Amino acid sequence: MIYADNAATTKLDIEAFEAMKPYLLENYANASQPYSFSRGAKKALKESREMIARCINAEPDEIYFTSGGTESDNWAIKGIAFNESLRKAIITSNIEHHAILNSCRQVERCGVPVAYLPANQEAIVTPEILKQFIAKQTKLVSIMTANNEVGSIQPIKELVAVAHDNGALFHTDAVQAVGHIPIDVKALGVDLLSASAHKFNGPKGVGFLYIKNGTSIIEHESGGQQERALRAGTENVAAIVGMSVALKNNCENLVRNADLITGIEDSFKSLLSKTNMDFIVNGSKLHIPGNISLSFRNTDGEMLLHRLDLLGIMVSTGAACDSKSTQVSHVLQAVKASEEYAKGTIRISFGKNNSLNDAEKIVNSLTQILFENMN
Ligand code: PLP
Repeated sequence: MIYADNAATTKLDIEAFEAMKPYLLENYANASQPYSFSRGAKKALKESREMIARCINAEPDEIYFTSGGTESDNWAIKGIAFNESLRKAIITSNIEHHAILNSCRQVERCGVPVAYLPANQEAIVTPEILKQFIAKQTKLVSIMTANNEVGSIQPIKELVAVAHDNGALFHTDAVQAVGHIPIDVKALGVDLLSASAHKFNGPKGVGFLYIKNGTSIIEHESGGQQERALRAGTENVAAIVGMSVALKNNCENLVRNADLITGIEDSFKSLLSKTNMDFIVNGSKLHIPGNISLSFRNTDGEMLLHRLDLLGIMVSTGAACDSKSTQVSHVLQAVKASEEYAKGTIRISFGKNNSLNDAEKIVNSLTQILFENMN
């Protein structure tokens, strides 16, 4: 099998897996208990928090463990939207993940005004467009660090400056970015940032929300005192340990991995351009390494996905909102991709476990499928 869908999820880092095991089998104590058996779990949570904080240049007490990207996004939007304040409105963009879009729809139903900024044709949200929309009423701006379908990296630092100049908070959904490109919350200036472990070779069902010290937010889970009483519930110690080890490994090897993955991407694009296939590459030149959204003219992305699957190649389609829908995705609609191309979209996302050989095999398979389809 060739797995080329690393934007959907990644293979668990073996060191992260080994680090998790003792907290499942031996050190299984509830970290909140006062007896000595809980000391190991408590220490593991503390060290994991410190390790994650170091990776994004945050303070340890600014890291709040969650169940993943979806929860972190829901918390950021609702926790700020429903917090008492004179300001009421939220600004996001029309290329966000559904974890943000549907959280925004929910707060809208509760009377919070939300504006959806239009991204440009490269799937970039510009500071200029934010300047046009931002108002005295704006409480929170939420723009993703990198788009999950086409990979475009947003000008976060500049967007944060516009938000802060206008007295608004800034959240970024960095689920596709953390562990893949350098993230420094202090340099970016963000107030809140979402991340998910399974996107950076950590386990599934765990993530974190960075909340800058001093940011006022409503608790996400009411209950005990865990996560400074803002996200109650017994901590998933093993998953949190796995997440911290995976992030540390990815961050320590960020440049090496990016070089390797970019090399595979370049080779893939160069081989593809030598074929006579009619395609366009979606998104911006500035994108997450290895994230390639391709639209083939007058073909069907679903068909390509399934035919590649039969050949043992896993990619995703960028054309469907979900596996049951045949609509062009909201991101491709936002970038105004023409219909004759948009319907034939697939997303290939290479990761650190791919090779140049994988790139060559995928190009050969695509050529074979499209040739057979024409005849
Ligand atoms: N945000 C973005 C940009 C994503 O790509 C994803 C997952 O695909 C999520 C949020 C949701 O993350 P999780 O799968 O951890 O809930």
